[in-house]
Amino acid sequence: MTKRGPVLVIDIGGTKMAAGVAEAGGRLITWSQVPTPRDVDAEKLWRTLESLLIQVLKVAKIDDLCELSGIGCGCGGPMEWPAGLVSPLNIPGWRDFPLRDRLRERFACDAPGEYPVRVHNDAVAMAAGEHWRGAGRGRKNMLGMVVSTGVGGGLILDNHLIDGASGNAGHIGHIVVDPDDGPLCVCGGRGCLEAIARGPALVEWAQDEGWRPGQPGMTAKDLAGDATQGHSVARAAMRRAGRGLGIAIASATNLCDLEVVSIGGGLSQAGALIFDPLQESLAAHTMLDFAREVLVVPAALGQHAGLVGAAALVVSGHQYWTGDLPRLAPPRVAR
Ligand SMILES: [Zn+2]
Repeated sequence: MTKRGPVLVIDIGGTKMAAGVAEAGGRLITWSQVPTPRDVDAEKLWRTLESLLIQVLKVAKIDDLCELSGIGCGCGGPMEWPAGLVSPLNIPGWRDFPLRDRLRERFACDAPGEYPVRVHNDAVAMAAGEHWRGAGRGRKNMLGMVVSTGVGGGLILDNHLIDGASGNAGHIGHIVVDPDDGPLCVCGGRGCLEAIARGPALVEWAQDEGWRPGQPGMTAKDLAGDATQGHSVARAAMRRAGRGLGIAIASATNLCDLEVVSIGGGLSQAGALIFDPLQESLAAHTMLDFAREVLVVPAALGQHAGLVGAAALVVSGHQYWTGDLPRLAPPRVAR
């Protein structure tokens, strides 16, 4: 087997754009990140990403793009997959932005032959990273989750990433955990996990209940800090989110016979405040023996899971990427 070159890796979310160069084995040679610019147009967003990529390539001493094995990218959804037309909910400047094509035009090696440029949902990339080199290593069936501004996921069954009909499988954030009394979700539904457990939803709920009422700019991190200090409403907010996560994970485990669930994103750093109520409700809703075996852990790769997963999209053959295989029906756009 010939030695494979490094991969240019990208992780784009509403808060930050991260990029790096990873060895074909997944180790990051270098990485860097910048805040995602707000209130700017599509081209300004692209130029921010472009300079970041030029910077990491320079630091990694990649002078010729043909030294790379390819380009892997996780980006906030939704997107038209595998075409890589992205419309991230939290990046309003990009609507049907042709990210995959732009990356290919600007950064791909122009030598003939296979040069993969692959864009997938950011939570899916994170799940691939955690399965490849993180908490799911050596396990065949895993759910990778990101609990942050949104709640996303990626599903790996029998060692392969599951894409679904339109590339959108794994959207655990829109599993319904409270259909009657739950809040409205950005998707238009009611009582989705995301509407309860996303950071801003926690803050909103807690403020309605009397935690720092009316104070603008509060974040889930502030809330977690106060919960650690023992603030009762803050603790209740974390408990509520943990419980919702436990219910959703129980459902996914019962459906898919999962071995491990890896949780990344800011909220996963809240430790026992989230994981204790999560484990409690998970235990309450997994009654079948096989489901009780599931292991729920924080992402082992931490904030790098998305970048490592972007490398996995490129170097792992069809294990984490089926986007270029012939499909029975044309991909649909899910919104
Ligand atoms: Zn929803």
